[in-house]
Amino acid sequence: MHPEAKKILVREEDINSRVKELGDLISRDYRDTDGLLVVGILKGAVIFMADLVRQLTIPVKLDFMAVSSYGKASESSGVVRILKDLEHNIQGKHLLIVEDIVDTGLTLKYLKENLETRGPASLKICTLLDKPARRKVNVEVNYNGFIIGDEFVVGYGLDYNERYRNEKSIFILKPEVYAS
Ligand code: 5GP
Repeated sequence: MHPEAKKILVREEDINSRVKELGDLISRDYRDTDGLLVVGILKGAVIFMADLVRQLTIPVKLDFMAVSSYGKASESSGVVRILKDLEHNIQGKHLLIVEDIVDTGLTLKYLKENLETRGPASLKICTLLDKPARRKVNVEVNYNGFIIGDEFVVGYGLDYNERYRNEKSIFILKPEVYAS
C-alpha cells in the first residue's frame, strides 16, 4: 500500500477486471455501428481511457477535452470553461465521453449539453467512479465502473495537487497529507 494511503477503496485487480467487463459491454453495444469516437476528459480520465480502449474490439478514434469549473461561486450554476476543445467534427458520429468520476454531475451535464448541440449520432457517458450521494443535477451515466461513498479518492488517474495519478489502485489519503 502507498505510504500516504489511509485505505484502499478499489484494488488494482478489481479495476482491471471491471475495465475488461466495461470494454466487453461497450464493444457489444456498438458492434453494429461504424465505430466510436472516445472522448477523454483531461487529465483524470487518461489512465482509465487508455486501459478501456485497449479492451474494445470495434473501430475506435480518440479525442480529448479539458475543462475547468469556474470555482465555488458557480458550483450551483454548473458553468464550465472549455480549456481544450475536440479536434474532430462530431456530427453524425457515435460519441462516448470517458470521465474519471461523477461527483455533483455539473461537469458532465454541461459537457453533454454542449456536445449534443454539435449533432452527434449518439452520445453516451462512461465513468470509472460514481459518487451518487453528492449529485446536484441529474445526468444519465450509461457505463459505470464502481459506485463509491462520499469520500475524496486518488489514484488511477485521480489526483490531489496533481499527485497520485500514476498509482495502480484507488485509495483515500491519510489526513496528514492534507495538513502538510
Ligand atoms: P462534478 O462536476 O461531477 O462535481 O466534478 C467531477 C470532477 O471533480 C471530476 O472529474 C474530478 O476531477 C473531480 N472530483 C470529484 N470527486 C473527486 C475525488 O474523490 N477525487 C478526485 N481526485 N477528484 C474528484
